[in-house]
Amino acid sequence: MAEASTELRVALIGNPNTGKTSLFNALTGMRQRVGNYSGVTVEKKIGSWALNRDQDVQLIDLPGTYSLSASSLDERIAVDVLAGRVDGLPAPDLIIVVVDVENLQRNLFLASQASELDVPMVIALNCWDVAEKKGLQSDCKLLEQRLGVPVVPTVATRSRGTEELARAVEHAVKKKPMMMRPIWPSAVKTAVQKLHDEFIAKRGEALHTGELQRLIFDRKSAVRERLQTPESEYEGIITDVRAQLYKDGFNPDAAESILRFRFLNPLLNDIIERQAALKKRTATESIDQLLLHRFWGLVVFVGMMYVVFQSVYTWAGPFMDLIEGGTGALQNIASNALAATPMLQSLIADGIIGGVGAFVVFLPQILVLFLFISLLEESGYMARAAFLMDKLFHWCGLNGKSFVPLLSSYACAIPGILATRTISDPKARMITILIAPLMSCSARLPVYLLLIGAFVEPRYGPAVAGAALFAMHFIGALLAAPIAWLLNQTLNKGQKPKPFLMELPPYRAPRLKTMVWRMYESGKEFIIRAGTVIFAMTVIIWALLYFPRSAEVETAVTSAYISEQSGHTENAAIDIQLSPEAEAALAQRIDAAYLEQSYMGRFGKFVQPIFAPAGYDWKITVGVLASFPAREVIISTLGITYALGGEIDETSHDLRNTLTQAKWDSGPRSGEAVFNLPVALSIMVFFALCMQCGATLAVIAKELNWSWAIGSFVTLTVVAWVAAVLTYQISMLFV
Ligand code: GDP
Ligand code: MG
Repeated sequence: MAEASTELRVALIGNPNTGKTSLFNALTGMRQRVGNYSGVTVEKKIGSWALNRDQDVQLIDLPGTYSLSASSLDERIAVDVLAGRVDGLPAPDLIIVVVDVENLQRNLFLASQASELDVPMVIALNCWDVAEKKGLQSDCKLLEQRLGVPVVPTVATRSRGTEELARAVEHAVKKKPMMMRPIWPSAVKTAVQKLHDEFIAKRGEALHTGELQRLIFDRKSAVRERLQTPESEYEGIITDVRAQLYKDGFNPDAAESILRFRFLNPLLNDIIERQAALKKRTATESIDQLLLHRFWGLVVFVGMMYVVFQSVYTWAGPFMDLIEGGTGALQNIASNALAATPMLQSLIADGIIGGVGAFVVFLPQILVLFLFISLLEESGYMARAAFLMDKLFHWCGLNGKSFVPLLSSYACAIPGILATRTISDPKARMITILIAPLMSCSARLPVYLLLIGAFVEPRYGPAVAGAALFAMHFIGALLAAPIAWLLNQTLNKGQKPKPFLMELPPYRAPRLKTMVWRMYESGKEFIIRAGTVIFAMTVIIWALLYFPRSAEVETAVTSAYISEQSGHTENAAIDIQLSPEAEAALAQRIDAAYLEQSYMGRFGKFVQPIFAPAGYDWKITVGVLASFPAREVIISTLGITYALGGEIDETSHDLRNTLTQAKWDSGPRSGEAVFNLPVALSIMVFFALCMQCGATLAVIAKELNWSWAIGSFVTLTVVAWVAAVLTYQISMLFV
């Protein structure tokens, strides 16, 4: 640990979906740390790989890229890391290029670009099993001879070939093999040399050939940002050099690919031909005819989502009852044990157990959902879903690369927004970032689950409940399309995006281990959230709903109650004997009175008129307001509110039940039920559209700036309010 600098550093690079992460996990045994590259928030994974008995290697997983053209942030990170330009991260001692055997040519293009950054290389020919199954053959030894670097066949998902890879890396660390580079025409060589001389002359800054090539071949290369030499000092020479290349017959924008492929193709000659001859029409292709069909594909997609969401209700029920029973019992125990100290009793039983418990109930449903999501991802279907969505939303100007970030925003907008870094067009990236919060993230899920569980499922059954849940996940996307269209018209002059060039992975049998891992990870994240953010908010909100607590409230309510009971107005008869029922009713009134005059209660009542058109009483208003930092806080807030108000007790300890029994406590509708289907729908619509997430706001501000962050916050809040009011008013016409 003390000599981190002498540790061997190996980076994994490769095209997306070649099995980089799988290989990383296989080599490190998932012993990994996740961090950020300095200066940017793209995630980096670092793990420790035991190369042999006494040598550990620091393994770095770089973002997947098709090229090093450095037009997107991911590509730039890859170049920067390989060239040793990231602060505190010297260039790796070696790179392992992960290559999909089935796509040798395109995968080796990246390897060829990387070879010019002067890092020794080993190639892992991954997905060897798929090739074997199809009868494809690749001659590793021949390829190795021609490329000049070790080539090791691997099956990352089954940890096959990792031993051989370790031996090859051990050997390569000593021998430092470099991949064969193209023989560049003299015009290109001169251009590179000229630029090199310029950097040395001006600042003494030595660049790798690979970096110089990036500066020449990539218009406005992102490599520029890390250089010490100011742009003004070399801008002119780049323009000159590019103009000269053009005169010499090389279009600088296209020359690189042409020349590299011209170099690679003969090397792959009989290797690829043999593959092509053996490649038959695969099962994947025939399934895709149906699943990617313009109409049937969508039918299958909707059907699949429907089954997923319905299962969330039918499978999780028994486990939820178990958790609810558990938290109820815990609440009783705590309540009895702490009866002597009412404030502590309230904090623990009503606040912490009531608040966090109301949230934790949803763990089984979250697990079921993630089981399905990992099933869809693992099997290769998710990529098809992105492809379908691209066809569907092409008209609103969304870039093809937007769909993966948008799909991942369904889990959480933050990784979704970070994933937009793969979009090279800054305008398209901006549009994607701005609509990402409209995708229904998993934090909204508990809100839907609660309200649908209380007001839809009991009345209409799990099928309709599933459909409602599906609808809630769709409404944001539905609104996102016209918003994207508008943004595209104004920011991008209505430019149509380039066609979608995403690689569709072959279908694969999902592996149980990965699915269990995904469920475990999402469950862990959920529980951690319950224990940190939700817990902290719970304590704060409990305090705001509990204080101030002047004894006058109790005296006033008691005397009013007793006069009411005894039928006359003097309050002298304090010591009247009350029946147990009357006693309980009085206790509840006192609780309710305290709640109403608490800080949060007063604030909620003050703001409530704004939400009255959406059908909310002051308690829902409190829930909505408390959820602006993090939307799922509404669950624990409602839990605490009703517990403090004395409405959750032994007979109805679960929140779903309590909601169905809640009554308006004042105003024109006093005594009527607060919640009905329209109110439930209106709350869900509000939560589906509103940007109630401090973390997302901060990420948008970081990726764009604060004006855009605040602008989108205000817009989405207004949109959510309008939609909630419309939902309530319109659906009230039907009940
Ligand atoms: P990355 O995008 O390069 O990080 O690729 P991943 O590691 O996420 O893998 C993409 C998909 O390919 C996953 O579904 C893996 O399970 C699968 N996969 C990775 N390596 C292999 C392999 O060697 N053989 C097979 N059959 N599947 C693989
Ligand atoms: Mg990966």
